[in-house]
Amino acid sequence: MAGFLLYDDAMAGYDLGSAHPLKPERFTLTVELMRAYGLLAECVSEPTAESASQPTAECVSEPTAESVSQPTAEGASGLSAAASDPGSNRLVVRRPHPAPDEDLALVHDRAYIDTVKAASAEPERFTWRSKRGIGPGDTPAAPGLHDAAALIAGATTQALELVLGSEPPARAFAVAGGLHHAHRDYASGFCIYNDPAIAIAVALRDGRVARVAYLDIDAHHGDGVQEAFYASPDVLTISLHESGRYLFPGTGRERETGRGEGEGYAINVPLPPLANNACYQLAFDEVVAPALAAYRPDVLIAQCGADAHHADPLTHLGLTLTDMRSLYRRIVSLAEEHCGGRLVCTGGGGYGTFSVVPRAWTMLAAELAEVELPEELPGPWRERAAALAEAAGGAAMGAGAGGLGAGGLGASDAGAGGLGASDAGAGPSAPRTLTEDTVPPGDPVPLLEETRAVVARVRESSPLLD
Ligand SMILES: [Zn+2]
Repeated sequence: MAGFLLYDDAMAGYDLGSAHPLKPERFTLTVELMRAYGLLAECVSEPTAESASQPTAECVSEPTAESVSQPTAEGASGLSAAASDPGSNRLVVRRPHPAPDEDLALVHDRAYIDTVKAASAEPERFTWRSKRGIGPGDTPAAPGLHDAAALIAGATTQALELVLGSEPPARAFAVAGGLHHAHRDYASGFCIYNDPAIAIAVALRDGRVARVAYLDIDAHHGDGVQEAFYASPDVLTISLHESGRYLFPGTGRERETGRGEGEGYAINVPLPPLANNACYQLAFDEVVAPALAAYRPDVLIAQCGADAHHADPLTHLGLTLTDMRSLYRRIVSLAEEHCGGRLVCTGGGGYGTFSVVPRAWTMLAAELAEVELPEELPGPWRERAAALAEAAGGAAMGAGAGGLGAGGLGASDAGAGGLGASDAGAGPSAPRTLTEDTVPPGDPVPLLEETRAVVARVRESSPLLD
């Protein structure tokens, strides 16, 4: 099946400051790892607005010399199809174009978009938290923020267009996207423009799709996407997250099921802290799979934030990297089963920037490309990740405490985990393999019992799961 990665280095302009926990390296370093593993077929030509969302893959067989040589040079053998057969089992890289204002305005107020532009042009004027959520704290003003956020929104939009325009069906990965906390008229939880909601709204506006399922496995509730479609039966939102009793943004309870015509088309599974793979598998078995079967979407969009890892410094869930890969496999197979394989994945949160996130999302890319990756990480990539982690560690440790607003996504960390904005604790600092991990805490038996009770309440609340 054809697969695409929507990516441009300019997305790294979504940079909220060196002390901020949401770092562009979570996706830039991920793309470097995908490249080092030979997972990408690079496009060399400049995209036009039209070509970016056209499924024809004119650059399928143009892997860079670097992408092929790195894994083998390191001696990481066994890179099944990718290294031996350029053009298959790779994600074709497409450079997106920025979402135009008219697309952003399907989800966001014009006045809010103007505020983001002002915060990008003159960030020094935003020295206090404005009423639209931009200023010191979770979503600080920064030069070029509008352009980078619009590019990320464009990437997710074009990922969905590619998937909907491909025959046979295709998959796409908008690795820098998944900014699911952005609301209609305010920034929240590190998120400026809500790229998943914008992508869905554009596809619905253009009549390219009738029923969209949005599945969110980020550790935090997908509140902004839920809000955007809360009264609509055309979009089913399902969010699995750490309970809002313990974690930002505090919403995502079982009884949040939609409104008006949208009643029944929002589903929330608030998991207990330390929830492990068995809890997630139960939620997939009892909620996600039957909901998709009942809804019969045309396409599945999965927000795959990597902050449900047990060592994430901002959250308190209990997945290992191997567990995360098993969820990615389930998502791919659910898309096969319920919507002809049409699947868009986005990134999202993830604060084990230099260790956990690149490995998790590279495994996700490998699932999309149907490639078995060798366990051993490419050596040059490992060295680079370690150097970047060391450089960022100093900056983050030095300034992390002061940067985050009370009650925000980052602030929840100080109250609950106390790890600050660094990568500290987020898995092995210099892992040698793809799935090397530390042991998650938590007692499996009571966790599963508690999750059973949550799932029972979700099923009782949801008309779709009757
Ligand atoms: Zn998150």
